[in-house]
Amino acid sequence: MHEFHIAKDIAEEIKRRAAAEKRAKVKAVGVELGALLRFDAGMCAGLLQQLLQDTPAAGAEFNVTVMPALAQCAECGKKFDPDPDVPQCPECDSLKVEIISGEGWKIMSMK
Ligand SMILES: [Zn+2]
Repeated sequence: MHEFHIAKDIAEEIKRRAAAEKRAKVKAVGVELGALLRFDAGMCAGLLQQLLQDTPAAGAEFNVTVMPALAQCAECGKKFDPDPDVPQCPECDSLKVEIISGEGWKIMSMK
């Protein structure tokens, strides 16, 4: 399941940061998910809670937000919010589209 792998990567990163910053306890974590991952924010928070039991982040508050995606057409330069299935320029119908953001995730904050 693709969501589970993403949640696992995020959980690993949270553990790595907590260790690097020598934190005994993590109280809250802010995570941004790109819209193209199609990963539900609530589901992500629930998986992180499960994956981080028995770590300094156990019981932390996970604030997950989904960020809109952005793509740019290579033909006409239009920037738009792409359809995850068929990223096609709404202006000139070109399929030569570059995804600028929306495919990754980021840990925005950790308290
Ligand atoms: Zn275009």
